[in-house]
Amino acid sequence: MNEIEPSPRDLSEQTLETQTVFQGRLLHARRDRVRLPNGQESTREYLVHPGAAVVIPLFDNGDVLLERQHRYPLRRDFLELPAGKFDPGETELACAQRELLEETGYTAREWTYLATFYPCIGYSDERLVFFLARGLEHVGHAPDHDEFIELLRLPMQEALAMIADGRICEAKTVMGLLWLARYGPLAKA
Ligand SMILES: [Mg+2]
Repeated sequence: MNEIEPSPRDLSEQTLETQTVFQGRLLHARRDRVRLPNGQESTREYLVHPGAAVVIPLFDNGDVLLERQHRYPLRRDFLELPAGKFDPGETELACAQRELLEETGYTAREWTYLATFYPCIGYSDERLVFFLARGLEHVGHAPDHDEFIELLRLPMQEALAMIADGRICEAKTVMGLLWLARYGPLAKA
């Protein structure tokens, strides 16, 4: 945004009509007719998403806990931070705590909110809410029946090196680890 502009133009778009074009188990696709700022009409297609919590589980020695999962749309495995969608009525923190336990079997004593990112603003309202989890304790494991997850504990510096060389290339994981390293409570000023 131009800082010297006294009052920014209103760029918002008004919804004239909204329609569900697909409602699946995961995806909810809508097509809206909108009024543009110049008075003309257009359509907007997008996915309605409940949002998700993303957890950076950090051990006292500086190791981070990642998961390897197969992601069907790309037919390959990815290394990822633990994460999962908000249940209806669930707080962001409660979701983060539930997902960490469900996916990794760990609880954490200390939770710190880090940041919120919007990973796909062109076609979805999805938001990702990042938490740092410290004081980790392994208490057991009850993974969802359709989640096949392999855990991987490695030094943060190794994870950052894996971002640099492309072995870690999944968006929320890259975002979260780089943000933590640069701006998190442990980052050097
Ligand atoms: Mg998950």
